[in-house]
Amino acid sequence: MVALRAALTGLPSYIPAKQIPGAAPLASNESPYGLLPAVAALLRAPQADLSRYPDMASTRLVAAIAAHHGVDADQVAVGAGSSEVCGQLLHAVVEPGAEVIFGWRSFEAYPMLTAVAGGTAVRVPLRDDALDLDAMAASVTDRTRLIFVCNPNNPTGTALGAEGLLRFVAAVPERVVIAVDEAYREYVDPGRSLDASVALRDRPNVVVLRTFSKAYALAGLRVGYCVGPREVIAQVRKAQVPFSLGTLAQKAAIAALGDAGEVARRVQLTVAERERVAERLRALGFAVPQSQANFLWLPLGRSSAAFAQHCLAGAVVTRPFPDEGVRVTIGRPEQNDAFLDLTEKWLTSS
Ligand SMILES: *Cc1c(COP(=O)(O)O)cnc(C)c1O
Repeated sequence: MVALRAALTGLPSYIPAKQIPGAAPLASNESPYGLLPAVAALLRAPQADLSRYPDMASTRLVAAIAAHHGVDADQVAVGAGSSEVCGQLLHAVVEPGAEVIFGWRSFEAYPMLTAVAGGTAVRVPLRDDALDLDAMAASVTDRTRLIFVCNPNNPTGTALGAEGLLRFVAAVPERVVIAVDEAYREYVDPGRSLDASVALRDRPNVVVLRTFSKAYALAGLRVGYCVGPREVIAQVRKAQVPFSLGTLAQKAAIAALGDAGEVARRVQLTVAERERVAERLRALGFAVPQSQANFLWLPLGRSSAAFAQHCLAGAVVTRPFPDEGVRVTIGRPEQNDAFLDLTEKWLTSS
């Protein structure tokens, strides 16, 4: 028998969302509005330079991201999606026996990437569908190297209050890196949760993860980044797989950053739809937590898989977490209406 790493063989394989032609794809939190106009224009132009290797340092993209956040270029590290940047961060801090703390349930990539990096995952149960920051801080040991704080949390959508997050950061020792994953920051009401890339900028152990996959509608091209202290960023850069960020991805992300007005317009549409759908679901009796992201969480427990199957039969693809709940992405209004119709049918048939 081939000798394989037990840390990985023990992990479940990632189950991709079902791809059904014609169905509403509400399983992966993508933008429902297609490519940004600036990105579409770029992709129509000839790309002769693709026969050459990309700029390994992503110099222009890093400069554009740094300008966007008002930081220096050496405070930014990029990767092929913020999933890869999570991995880079893990490789930069994890040594054998190191513990990595995150809430659970949270982003599915955390346990997988932690295992791949050779770390030990410490899952801290959610409380009322939200991260339990006190319990997470209490889980820190001498072996803790990294804490993922997913804000808003995927898949529940809940956002952390400013006070709680500041208290948490103050309670965690400075030798432990805190990665605030703000994949959905664009959808957050600024008054409800702080922007860690601004409020925690001066902390020596806080990095902020962002992605172009959600509000920037670039999930298929794979671009993510983190902003943080120079000493940490320098190591995160070393952990990137060489050339993982292609030329087209670098250019598209720069174009997307330049299309801020359109991004804001789409975010407004999604936020308005999120509130409309959430209100309707609550009126129907679903205990949907307050979401600050582009998706909603239906805590359906044992009915989760059956509910998702019911939606699938009605041409709406959602993301079930068996025995826990179902996450549904906010799509275009007509897609959301199709989903709401299915939830009403579900209630009358069960
Ligand atoms: C979608 C998502 C990401 C971003 O993934 P990419 O690899 O950039 O596509 C990161 N964190 C969370 C919590 C997410 O939901």
